[in-house]
Amino acid sequence: MTAETKPTKPARPQQRRPDLDTVFSVNDDGSRNFIHTADVKGPWQTRKTAIHLLLLAIYFIVPWLEFGGHPLIHIDLPGRQAFLLGQTFTNQDFYLMFFLVTGAGFGLFVVTALWGRIWCGYACPQTVMVDGVFRKIERWFEGSREKRLKRNAGPWTFDKFWRKAGKHIVYLALATISAHTFMSYFFPIRDLIPAVLSGPTGHTTAFLWALFWTGMLYFDYAWFREQTCIVICPYGRLQSTLTDADTVVIGYDENRGEPRGKKGADGVGDCVDCFRCVQVCPTGIDIRNGLQLECIGCTNCIDACDAVMTKLERPKGLIRYDSLRGFNGEKKRSIFRPRVGLYAFLGILGLTVFSVTALSRSPFEVRILRPKGMPYTLQETAIQNLYNIRIQNKTGIDRTYYVEAGESEKGDDLRFVISQTKVHIPTLEDATVPVFVDLDRSEYTANFPIHFVVRDSLGGAAKTIEATFRGP
Ligand code: SF4
Ligand code: SF4
Repeated sequence: MTAETKPTKPARPQQRRPDLDTVFSVNDDGSRNFIHTADVKGPWQTRKTAIHLLLLAIYFIVPWLEFGGHPLIHIDLPGRQAFLLGQTFTNQDFYLMFFLVTGAGFGLFVVTALWGRIWCGYACPQTVMVDGVFRKIERWFEGSREKRLKRNAGPWTFDKFWRKAGKHIVYLALATISAHTFMSYFFPIRDLIPAVLSGPTGHTTAFLWALFWTGMLYFDYAWFREQTCIVICPYGRLQSTLTDADTVVIGYDENRGEPRGKKGADGVGDCVDCFRCVQVCPTGIDIRNGLQLECIGCTNCIDACDAVMTKLERPKGLIRYDSLRGFNGEKKRSIFRPRVGLYAFLGILGLTVFSVTALSRSPFEVRILRPKGMPYTLQETAIQNLYNIRIQNKTGIDRTYYVEAGESEKGDDLRFVISQTKVHIPTLEDATVPVFVDLDRSEYTANFPIHFVVRDSLGGAAKTIEATFRGP
């Protein structure tokens, strides 16, 4: 009788560990390694959730708010105008965008130089939507990370089907709402809703844009997720140039944690290599490998590791917010470094130029347009000049303007015929007022300056504009 041999268990494939040479969310064959983050709780999650909720509320409420009869924040691309907190900007104010964008950009640089990618973790719309909304929905429908992984590896059952279908229906509904909210920053929401309700034939352009953005957001939030941060977003790549040894980042205290080993083993550090910090990471990296481009500063690994340390009755903070100097055991950290000063100066400069120029802009513009190739006409006894006075109302309300003759060296010898002394101009529109000016031939010796005055009926602001009276 032959001895019965015990069947050997197939060897478990070795779990892939994140490293510095590969992107963990991409497999060796180029396929997607979809990351299922584990649940995590802790004080940083509470703070982050509160900020995400506040930002979501702002994002969805702002399109409904108005100031002075216009949306609070709105960019009207076809109309070449924009509204920001009660200020109206026309295409002529477009240069101000440079100062606003550079001011805000350098402001973000200051924040990054001081606190690393705090923007990505707390305020970036991508993180707020994916981490703050879509991953939570996934959790509600499909359960914890372990359950999701097990169900995904198993066969299709009714349970698996309804959970996945339910999740994607809610995803699609939220992507639709989010896309329409995004569009309402460019297309007033009170016009957008009827346009959407009128169907594809009622407003085809709005429908196609809505379809495009809904598809993009659904693709991003449901599937692409952290790939946007890793592959597309340029900000992560700038990180290494904006930070230094004094920047506060999320990091692992190697001096305290290494060498890793089980609790109670001799000569080991505090890291028990439980892998919790990796399982909760939405970009799939191992923070113990050092600061990496993929880290979006979400704080998940801090709370996860603190919970492990609490269980082990060890001090928290093996993974924490600290500067590289702090992680190296240096006590002193410098906040006011030359780079912070330079970024702050450029940021304040940009925002100051934008604010001062925006607030001191004239509420209306006046220009004189002369008919081409016809500087004057000769009449029997007089010389006649034609001036087209173009008035642009740059305010957010309809205004009335008065056009008058101004001073001139010829005084009463000049005869003004103003086609419209009172002109009503709707908000952000312009009007042209032709003015004929006559002078007796005998009075003319050489070209001379004349003036027109345009007065705003509200507030009485006046502009005097100079032109030249021409003759033979
Ligand atoms: S969670 Fe903390 S203890 Fe666990 S592997 Fe990460 S660093 Fe080590
Ligand atoms: S390393 Fe930590 S902070 Fe960075 S993305 Fe991963 S979990 Fe978030």
